[in-house]
Amino acid sequence: LITASVAATKGRVLIVGATGFIGQFIAEASLDSGRATFVLARSFYDTPSKAKTVKTLQDKGATVIHGVIRDQEFVERVLKEHEIDIVISAVGGAKILDQTILVRAIKAVGTIKRFLPSEFGHDVDRADPVEPGLTMYKEKREIRRLIEECGVPYTYICCNSIASWPYYDNTHPSEVLPPLEQFQIYGDGTVKAYFVAGLDIGKFTMKTVDDFRALNKSVHFRPSCNFLNVNELASLWEKKIGRILPRVTVTEDDLLDAAAENIIPQSIVASFTHDIFIKGCQVNFSVDGPDEVEVSDLYPDESFRTMDECFNDFVSKMDIDRRKGAADEINSTKNHVVEAFPITAMCA
Ligand code: NDP
Repeated sequence: LITASVAATKGRVLIVGATGFIGQFIAEASLDSGRATFVLARSFYDTPSKAKTVKTLQDKGATVIHGVIRDQEFVERVLKEHEIDIVISAVGGAKILDQTILVRAIKAVGTIKRFLPSEFGHDVDRADPVEPGLTMYKEKREIRRLIEECGVPYTYICCNSIASWPYYDNTHPSEVLPPLEQFQIYGDGTVKAYFVAGLDIGKFTMKTVDDFRALNKSVHFRPSCNFLNVNELASLWEKKIGRILPRVTVTEDDLLDAAAENIIPQSIVASFTHDIFIKGCQVNFSVDGPDEVEVSDLYPDESFRTMDECFNDFVSKMDIDRRKGAADEINSTKNHVVEAFPITAMCA
């Protein structure tokens, strides 16, 4: 009864892209907050992992709707039929402009109290990465301008970097263990950035969705506990694994060359890595404009997961994988079959 009444008083949420990397964190946080949560998924069963994500969200109470945001009539119908109050989009970087129809549908329906477009990175009006990252930012800017022109109430989430080792060629670095052979240090490794655990991206995003203080504002995530440069990150990881690893320098030119290769999506990540760890795009401004707010000022009593905790998660996963690998090795020796096991981990 209590859960039902909480859900009834909170805005009803539609999430687009909930099967994606960032979208999963948002959908889980929406469900954890006790909101009526609807998930628009365009394909459920292309991969076992996507089917599993959809099933997990359904089991937690999400209503899954099959469809895409390219059909305005369909989107309008979904928004009306399910009496949606809040729309959150986490479509991937290659699909940013698909949101044009979503914005037009939100405007046509006229009852949506808040829209959060697919941002979840830097302040795209400020940051100025080299190509091909710049093209993605231009598309995100285009969606911002459309939202503002249409008078759709919005919040832009600028959550900075996901908590993990910031590989310069991996779009989802928190799904991969930090280095075990050697560190690649960007420039002199002294430019700082903000790291935010996926769980916290979800948790704090959901706090903003019906907070009037975040209405028509950019919300910046700058947890002081996770304000680190690459040298500091490397030392922290060395403490966790109890070993010192060699460090090689990746120069500014190396990153620019990787960006210029224009291999998508790796070159996009290289251009953002250059912007963060060479140019300092996360730290070269202060959050003091009239249309922006820092998330810790909104929720001063809420803590962030620290990088230390996130690295502990990676170590635990590594131990589990090692034990699994050892057990499998015994079995494979018995069967005279040798298989390679990828070591992956997720810092939540
Ligand atoms: P993913 O590619 O992992 O997932 C995108 C999701 O959107 C998928 O569920 C996909 O469905 C869905 N989708 C795409 N197009 C449509 C459509 N037309 N209609 C309905 N659903 C659609 O995206 P990411 O999580 O990597 O990226 C999300 C946002 O987060 C981006 O803005 C990105 O820039 C940002 N980001 C930030 C990071 C950071 O460190 N701060 C790291 C990574 C991303 P399907 O599976 O069917 O394709």
